[in-house]
Amino acid sequence: MTMDTTKYKKLLEKELKTLEGELESIGQRSPSNPNDWEAKPNKIDALASDDMEVAESIDEFEDNAGIVKQLEVQYNDVKHALKKISDGTYGICENNGHEIETARLEANPSAKNCILHMNLQK
Ligand SMILES: [Zn+2]
Repeated sequence: MTMDTTKYKKLLEKELKTLEGELESIGQRSPSNPNDWEAKPNKIDALASDDMEVAESIDEFEDNAGIVKQLEVQYNDVKHALKKISDGTYGICENNGHEIETARLEANPSAKNCILHMNLQK
């Protein structure tokens, strides 16, 4: 079975760019591991003695850290899917090696498994 992956490759590459842009806007690559992202440290104004402001700033950092983590998971999934395209294993369920439904791939081009296994994992 040869599958036409051109469409999915385009979608995935576009998604990768979008995710990268989002990651760069609130995060930065970890200096120790370029594949790892972390939230940008918040510039807490040392002169602002306002506790509220400092607290807000910390909250924002924590929110961003959560978002960065989510984006990073998506980013890695997309990269993983692109690698599978180049390996010729794209569109195959990672649980049992059968084909992933087209509808599922269209909804989520970086899907790693078929509808059955997606539901089992939740
Ligand atoms: Zn499956």
